[in-house]
Amino acid sequence: MQAISERQTQIAMKFDCKDKPKEWYDWKWHIKNSIKSISRFEAVTGIRFEATEREKLAVTLEKFPLSVTPYYLSLIDTANFANDPIFKQAFPSPEELKVSRHDMSDPLHEDKDSPAPGVTHRYPDRVLLQVSNICSMYCRHCTRKRKVGDQDSIPGREQIEAGLDYIRNNPLVRDVLLSGGDPLMLSDAHLDWILTELRQIKHVQVIRIGTRMPVVLPYRINDELTTMLKKHHPLWINTHFNHPRELTSSSRRALRQLADAGIPLGNQTVLLAGVNDCPRIMRSLVHKLTENRVRPYYLYQCDLSEGLSHFRTPVGKGIEIMENLIGHTSGFAVPTYVIDAPGGGGKIPVMPNYLISLSTNKVVLRNYEGVITTYKEPDSYEPIFCDRNCDDCHLDLPLADAEECEATGIQMLLCDHDTTISLTPANNPRMDRRNND
Ligand SMILES: *Cc1c(COP(=O)(O)O)cnc(C)c1O
Repeated sequence: MQAISERQTQIAMKFDCKDKPKEWYDWKWHIKNSIKSISRFEAVTGIRFEATEREKLAVTLEKFPLSVTPYYLSLIDTANFANDPIFKQAFPSPEELKVSRHDMSDPLHEDKDSPAPGVTHRYPDRVLLQVSNICSMYCRHCTRKRKVGDQDSIPGREQIEAGLDYIRNNPLVRDVLLSGGDPLMLSDAHLDWILTELRQIKHVQVIRIGTRMPVVLPYRINDELTTMLKKHHPLWINTHFNHPRELTSSSRRALRQLADAGIPLGNQTVLLAGVNDCPRIMRSLVHKLTENRVRPYYLYQCDLSEGLSHFRTPVGKGIEIMENLIGHTSGFAVPTYVIDAPGGGGKIPVMPNYLISLSTNKVVLRNYEGVITTYKEPDSYEPIFCDRNCDDCHLDLPLADAEECEATGIQMLLCDHDTTISLTPANNPRMDRRNND
């Protein structure tokens, strides 16, 4: 057991914490002692707010509740809290009440794309299963702010059974993403049950868990948990670090334990104004992640959820960050920058442009340094007309393992075995005129 830091001892003193190091390392102690009110926050941190500020904060909390673990709170630099990235992610701002014209309560249409309660089925071969609606820390930038602390959306056993049934009955689902809330808020036994049920479904090849525990409550990652998780491989975990300051010795220990349990780790960062909207911070973050065996997976443009307007940056900031990463650092340290399409279109990758031009035999590209280069296309490339009759093809594909799937969208426009030549929006007026002939 690591010694607890001086700051953590100071924080622990403010609680009924008899056996300091031992209780501090008990994740349930942190849940029980999470700070949920402004006055408690003031008492524990020593930060004081003006009466008018406190009133505004109280109104904010009525709409979007506060909850922060003593651990995450102990990372706040109280001397400079107004600019502190931990404070900004954990502590409410009256700005959250500003709803701008384009804000939505469910911008990603997760509830609309839901064929069963708690299931979001957006992509053909994978589903998101919400197994919990609570978290140990309520991130102020949560895209599912609408559901945080909502007693009506706690997924009970029956709801999870219904979600499992949906997956059982859909042989195309090969990847299940447990999300929430935070799935690691569930007890080991309950999570073990869900994972066991999923593992019994033959078509489910991989299971993923999205959790912020390594960041906000690293003590949740303990021997009992990893012993249980190990039984359910192949299991992947995606976590959510937003700032290099979050990679503390406790967090690094948690990551090490997960990686040692054979779990590939990824990280999803949200681009947040005033927290990490800086190429140097991002560079430092991705380096710390890879040093701790975590692969930066996605960098998200901040969603259009209500109450997040003060966190949003222009997309240009994200592109600038990508320009500062691609080529400048290890390829595996570079996340994919995505915008989760409002209306439920899924994640759309956005990149700086590297393809400058092309002719019939040459491609002109630029690299990260601004060097412009050409790639000579092959003189002869025999295009193979693919009618999807793989028996006639000389490429080797073990047909028994190959999944059959219908081509859709752009994929369909590109393929040879479909004759569709264009995709037209349903309400295209030109088409309406044609139909009227
Ligand atoms: C993000 C997401 C997934 C997983 O997408 P990947 O790009 O495979 O990581 C699946 N379902 C929903 C609804 C999602 O939002």
